[in-house]
Amino acid sequence: MSMAVDFDLLVIGAGPGGYEAAIRAAQLGMKTAIVERELLGGICLNWGCIPTKALLKTGETFEHLSHLKDFGLSVEKASFDFAKVVERSRKVAAQLNSGVGYLMKKNKIEVIEGTARLEKGSPAPKAVIALKAGGERTVQAKNVILATGARARTIPAIGLEPDGEKVWTYREALVPKFAPKSMVVIGSGAIGIEFASFFRALGSEVTVVEMLDRIVPVEDAEISAAAQKAFEKRGLKFRVGAKVNKLTKSKTGVSVDIEAGGKAETLQAEVAIVAIGIVGNVENLGLEALGVKVDRTHVVIDEHLSTGVAGLYAIGDIAGPPWLAHKASHEGIHCVEHIAGLKPSNLSAPIPGCTYSEPQIASVGLTEAQAKEGGREVKVGRFPFRVNGKAIAAGATEGFVKTVFDAKTGALLGAHMLGHEVTEMIHGFSLAITMEATEAELIGTVFPHPTMSEAMRESVLDAYGRAINI
Ligand code: FAD
Repeated sequence: MSMAVDFDLLVIGAGPGGYEAAIRAAQLGMKTAIVERELLGGICLNWGCIPTKALLKTGETFEHLSHLKDFGLSVEKASFDFAKVVERSRKVAAQLNSGVGYLMKKNKIEVIEGTARLEKGSPAPKAVIALKAGGERTVQAKNVILATGARARTIPAIGLEPDGEKVWTYREALVPKFAPKSMVVIGSGAIGIEFASFFRALGSEVTVVEMLDRIVPVEDAEISAAAQKAFEKRGLKFRVGAKVNKLTKSKTGVSVDIEAGGKAETLQAEVAIVAIGIVGNVENLGLEALGVKVDRTHVVIDEHLSTGVAGLYAIGDIAGPPWLAHKASHEGIHCVEHIAGLKPSNLSAPIPGCTYSEPQIASVGLTEAQAKEGGREVKVGRFPFRVNGKAIAAGATEGFVKTVFDAKTGALLGAHMLGHEVTEMIHGFSLAITMEATEAELIGTVFPHPTMSEAMRESVLDAYGRAINI
């Protein structure tokens, strides 16, 4: 039976995974459409990566003002207009959202505004789209990529549920009507730490509660410890190994009952931010009827991002961790190139992770503990920014670079950084690991002077007992 096919590829969800996949498909000559129920650019451009970075830049700049004397400068009285701070962040997001609209047009990708669900079809599931403008449209494509992303995890049973006033997820925290005097941030992953840093920089009293035994728990343990100290210097407070038992709202704010090491404590604040992870948007997509496997809240995929249902793929946040924009895009491109029968980019390339606090955290590859699992022998190097010339000149001496090598082969296994703008440097190590570089190649690479990146090479030298400037 022959079937009329409307498109070569239909992408559901226009986040960084979906919209980049659509562009790559258009480049490869596929007739492509993308469905989006809310805003082009997804969480990343509208409610995630980008607007948080705009807020954090304000926080960082404001923090710098209190150190102006160190640079021989002074201002009369530093202050801020909170509504304008938030407005700038929204403008930045809006600019990028319209940029994606332009890219869709440029690449002749049809944008369908609406909410899609899937039904059995041939050669791939067909999409039934409830159009924003009203009515329904059914689209049959040769291939479908699910890129519907994720949302904040909540636990309503213990009060961890946004109310738009006193209890926020990232959605509410990105468009606050006021800067709270005090807040409890629940969860110390990148999202929790970024909001904690921003509001602290503007003067809020902030306590971060983490259930595991250290903050930013996916990072190397040494980074967690040093980051906590750096944040505490700025007045952030932490409760680690602390379980939240209940959040209760009062007239003036929230009470958060926590338990740490068998001791109960109640934290009071004006506002709470719930940043305890995310769950994939797997509901109301018709996945069950199609026989798509879902593990907790993620679609199960194979090594080419196929769901196992003919012509149906899943990428990005809906396909599981790490929940990062560049992971979503990388998977999107891989998926489209696989569909096109090309030899796609390496899906097992290491995914760097960044936290845009002050100081920043950036890492790629294995932590020291992960590298040692399974009995591998490692060589570890460290180099602090406090003896790096550019860092001293810039007044940005906090933090260090740590590198982990396989002692037998010299392969770089992982790199970890804490410091000013280290998120702009970590790609150097991503490139090294992706190209399977060894210490010899890193040592043989010339880094420009004076830059903070010199600490990267020094850290490698240190792993081999050869650091020069310490
Ligand atoms: P999303 O960006 O979530 O996009 C999915 C899209 O699908 C959405 O627009 C949604 O409306 C749409 N959709 C869902 N269901 C349907 C349907 N049925 N029909 C039509 N459309 C649908 N990552 C980083 O790498 N760096 C960062 O600095 C960073 N900061 C972050 C800060 C915050 C506060 C948050 C919340 C996240 C942050 N992230 C960051 C994570 C990043 O935003 C996500 O990993 C990324 O957006 C995932 O991309 P995606 O394409 O999988 O999905």
